[in-house]
Amino acid sequence: MLRFKNLGSGSAGNATLVEAQDGLQVTRLLIDCGLRVTELRRRLQAVDVALEDLDGLFVTHEHSDHIGHARRWAQETGRPVWMSEGTRLACEADNWNLPDTQLRVARDGVPIALGALQLHPFTVPHDAREPLQLRCSDGDRSLGILTDLGHASAHVVQALQGCHALLLEANHDPVMLSRSSYPAFLRKRIAGPLGHLSNDDAAALLQAVRHPALSCVVAAHLSERNNAPSLAQAALSTVLGCLPDDVPVADPDQGSAWHLA
Ligand SMILES: [Zn+2]
Ligand SMILES: [Zn+2]
Repeated sequence: MLRFKNLGSGSAGNATLVEAQDGLQVTRLLIDCGLRVTELRRRLQAVDVALEDLDGLFVTHEHSDHIGHARRWAQETGRPVWMSEGTRLACEADNWNLPDTQLRVARDGVPIALGALQLHPFTVPHDAREPLQLRCSDGDRSLGILTDLGHASAHVVQALQGCHALLLEANHDPVMLSRSSYPAFLRKRIAGPLGHLSNDDAAALLQAVRHPALSCVVAAHLSERNNAPSLAQAALSTVLGCLPDDVPVADPDQGSAWHLA
């Protein structure tokens, strides 16, 4: 069984819990640690998971809403942390490093085995040194995690083929972004090819990877100022052929419910 629960999504801090069960073996991976560890602990406790129950952390890239509290997490848990070499170099440039005993280098296309979970990192176009996103599998079902990318490259579309569930970025509405109070350079960055997916970009990507066994799509990483949940839901539901309200949206503070892949 493979299931996931987002614990917080958006520029204020991201974290997603993925859990695979194989007989008596349960494996839990945290993807990104942009939440303070005390807050992470509190949100995990709400679903009866202790920080100590996590088997590892995968950091997608060095932006603070993803890596901000990873170092503290590593210190508190002593568990392994995967990141790309580029992300590791970004940490080094920021004057910190994880101990060699905990650091694991992840590479595009090289699978990682973690208990009952298999992880398949893939490169995405985003303005970080070497951003990776992740496909997770229990050997039967698979979940695609995809936020923080400016456009859907052919590589991304390929990596997500056949997923049964997706946590998919729907960052902004282009009209809201163009009218926002953000400075011009920031609006350009967000809308650019190395920024973030708009609702329509997300819908187009979903159209490219949609198949009959894709049963769950959760909208994620919504901009609080340049998007509204109803707009993201409208865009994705059109592709899925469901009601807008049937598309779950990961909330900055509440995250999402548990979803099965
Ligand atoms: Zn982000
Ligand atoms: Zn980012």
